[in-house]
Order: sequence, then C-alpha cells, then structure tokens
Amino acid sequence: MELIYRSTRNNNETAKASEAILKGLAGEGGLFVPDFIPELDKSFEELSKMTYQEIAYEVMKLMFTDFTEEELKYCINSAYDEKFDTPVIAPLAYHNGAFFLELFHGKTIAFKDMALSILPYLMTVSAKKNNIKNEIVILTATSGDTGKAALAGFADVPGTRIAVFYPKNGVSPIQEKQMVTEKGKNTFVAGITGNFDDAQTGVKNMFKDEALNAYLNGKGFQLSSANSINIGRLVPQMVYYIYSYAQLLKDGKISAGDKINIVVPTGNFGNILAAYYASLMGLPVNKFICASNDNKVLYDFFTTGTYDRNREFILTTSPSMDILISSNLERLIYKIADCDSDKLSSLMNDLSQKGKYEITPSMKEKLDMFRGGFATEAEVADEIGKIYKEDGYVIDTHTAVAAAVYDKYKAESGDDTVTVIASTASPYKFTRSVMAAIDPESKDMDDFELADKLSMLSGVRIPNAVEEIRNAEIIHKTVCDKEDMEQTVKSFLGC
Ligand SMILES: *Cc1c(COP(=O)(O)O)cnc(C)c1O
Repeated sequence: MELIYRSTRNNNETAKASEAILKGLAGEGGLFVPDFIPELDKSFEELSKMTYQEIAYEVMKLMFTDFTEEELKYCINSAYDEKFDTPVIAPLAYHNGAFFLELFHGKTIAFKDMALSILPYLMTVSAKKNNIKNEIVILTATSGDTGKAALAGFADVPGTRIAVFYPKNGVSPIQEKQMVTEKGKNTFVAGITGNFDDAQTGVKNMFKDEALNAYLNGKGFQLSSANSINIGRLVPQMVYYIYSYAQLLKDGKISAGDKINIVVPTGNFGNILAAYYASLMGLPVNKFICASNDNKVLYDFFTTGTYDRNREFILTTSPSMDILISSNLERLIYKIADCDSDKLSSLMNDLSQKGKYEITPSMKEKLDMFRGGFATEAEVADEIGKIYKEDGYVIDTHTAVAAAVYDKYKAESGDDTVTVIASTASPYKFTRSVMAAIDPESKDMDDFELADKLSMLSGVRIPNAVEEIRNAEIIHKTVCDKEDMEQTVKSFLGC
C-alpha cells in the first residue's frame, strides 16, 4: 500500500515520498507528514540478527513506499559504508548508568551525518523517478555544522551540486577550515559579509525567486534544500533507535517487549521526533526525555503547554541546540491536534505573529510520554568532568546536556528503566569546551594541541575529520557581499 504524505498546514496537499523529498517543504510553510506510520513487519528477535543496513531497509521500505527494493538498497549501501569509522555504524557504549548511542562515527563526526549521508542518494533517485532531468543544486546557509555535513554528503554525488554560504566572521576557525578545505568537485563554499540571518535570508530569497528558478531551469538546474525538515532526513534517523533496541536485545540487556527511555539533546526537534516516529512503528518506549540547554523553550513547553519564543537568545557551549524555534515540533503538534491542519495553522500563526501559542489541556494529555529537562552551562561542564573521572569516557557538550538532564530525571523520578542517550557529536568537534571541563590548565593551547591532549587523556584516536584539516589546502576562497549571493551562485554554475 502506498504511504501518502500530507502538509501540516493544508490537508489537501499531498505527495508521494519521492515528491516530498524533492520539495523539502510543503506549500504555505507546511511540513510533510505521513498519513500514518506503518508497523514493523519483522520481530525484534529477527531485527537483532540484522546489520545496520538491513534494519535501515526494513524501516525505509515502510516509509518510502514508492521506492523499489533495488533503489532503497542502492541508497542505503552508498550511504552507510566505509565513510563510517566502524562497521556497526552506530555503536552503544555503557557509562554512568545509561547506554550512549554514538551517532558521530560518520564523516563530519556529528549525528547530522546519519541522515546527510543518505539524503543525496534519496534525492537523485527521487529526481529520476519523477523524470527530472535537471541537475539538483543544493543551497545551504549554515551557522557552522550543517554546512560541512551537507558538503560531505553531496560531495561528488553524480547529478548534484552544492553551494554553502556561511557568515565570514561568524563561525569557529575549525568549522571554517572544515568547509573551505572541502575537496568535492561539485562543491562551492562562500563566506558572506553579514551574519547567519543574512545568509539564511539570501538563500530563502533565491528559493522564492520565480524568475531565477525559471532561468536556472532553462540552463538545466533545479534548486533544492537539505535542511532538517526534509522527510529524507527524518526517516533515516528513525533507523538508529530501532537498531539500538535490537542491539540491546542481542546483548541480553533487555527482553523483547521491554520498554526503554530515550534521552535526546534537542534543538530543532528532528532527532527526538524520529525517536517518537520509531515508537509508532513498534519500538517499545517508556519516556522520551527532551533535553535543552539554557535556551529552554522546549522544557517550558512540555512543563506548561505554552510555547513562547519571546525571550533572550543565549549563546552556549552546545551551539547546535541554541534555537528558539524548533521547526519539527510542528509535526508533533499536528499529531496531537488530531491531524487537523486548520487547528495547526492557527497555532503556527500565533507563533509567527505573537511569538507564542498555547495548546489545550486535552492536547497536553497526549504528550504524557514526553518529559522536558534542561541543563545549565555549569551542569554541562560538571557532567563532562564527572563521567571522565569516573569512567575515562569523554562526551561532547551536546551529549552532556542530555546526560545531565537524565541524571536529574532519574534522581527525581526513581525510574530505572534501561535508557539510551543519543550521543550527537564527537568530543573532538567541541574540543575547547570539552577540554575546559576536564583539563582547565590546557586553556592556552591552540585547537590542534587541544585535540592532541584530548587524545592522550581519553585514549581515543583523533578522528580523520580533525586530522585531515590540520594541514589541508584551502580550496574555497570566495567572499561575497550578502547582496551578491544570486550572482555568486550563477557564476558557480557557469551560467
Ligand atoms: C543538530 C544537533 C543537535 C540538535 O538536533 P535536532 O534534531 O535539531 O534536535 C544536537 N546535537 C548536535 C551535535 C547537533 O549537531
């Protein structure tokens, strides 16, 4: 049976999976959601004998029903290969009373690789299925992390090109170096004289510009987006939660049917939503624990039922979670609003006009499986130090937000359910903050010296992602004015 996707803002707008992947966003700012989530047709006993790639197929065949078996297996096997530094792709490590699900073994050592490794293949197959002959041009504005993960994912994928814009003076030296040394022949990176919002606005304007899109179409190009609301990013994230359960079962840590808790350090709400979708597919879950840093909009929402973005934006040591509008939450709200797109649209209008909305008590009741928690900067640093001292295990700042929130939850609730914590980045991605927590003396070292010291202390080899940029050649030197982004894209495309 074909699974249909529908816009959260307009129930009459539908798409097949391949169409939703190509479009990214639905009309009127809506997000595509599946009409329902099919149940797994394999038991967890069967899944526990499968590889990551095989489980990925079992999940994706149910969600992407207009893809053939051959197409899906091509996408999966192209994505989850030696780019990952471990054949198990997403290992579990037990420390401090919980299982850390390490999602940082891909090319850019952060969890966004889990989805951005496969999205380019899903997109090119979708283009072929829909008879699109144009080359797909991905446009991305980045505040640091997404840019490199998207570049790495799309690099040298036939039928695609990618252009990334970042604020010239608004990313860390390591983040900038990761991007400007990207070798893929179809990649283009430019710093802009402006901030992240300027980059984002410039990209959005290009997507909306009909004249530009018609012009590019005439030259054989079509713009597309790789951002985290694309279902081509969401569905691949369901896989590792199901995989983690299968591994726990295989290792005798749980019995089939036992419920687990899942703790997720959350920003845009994509990762935790994927865990929720996995539960609708049959993953037994007790509680979803949504962990925030000082930007605790989501904690307040789950506690009070009011989502309110009118507050100060706080820069923290977990920058990928410094977000006040969690876009993917819209999909959960749609579900608890009984999939009523009018009701949902009116809440989202409140959000854009007043900066806040309030859900009804009966909607809030449906969120019983969710708990919000938050960790302060001091708690994050303490957590990194504590786990390192107790166990010699080093976690990154984002993962530490989740670990600290879990410690507090466990102490308050007494809940001793087996728990999986999504570990979303390698400590080597945020070396400076991590080292400040475990070895304050090292603060005067440069970023690579810090990495060397971290390797010595943790006994974990420096990942390739860091090692390869140490002496890498700078390839992308373009800096453009924020007004000239369109011209810059045209000259990159040679048209
Ligand atoms: C993007 C990111 C997050 C937040 O994930 P969402 O899906 O946006 O909630 C957490 N940690 C790291 C390291 C990230 O890069």
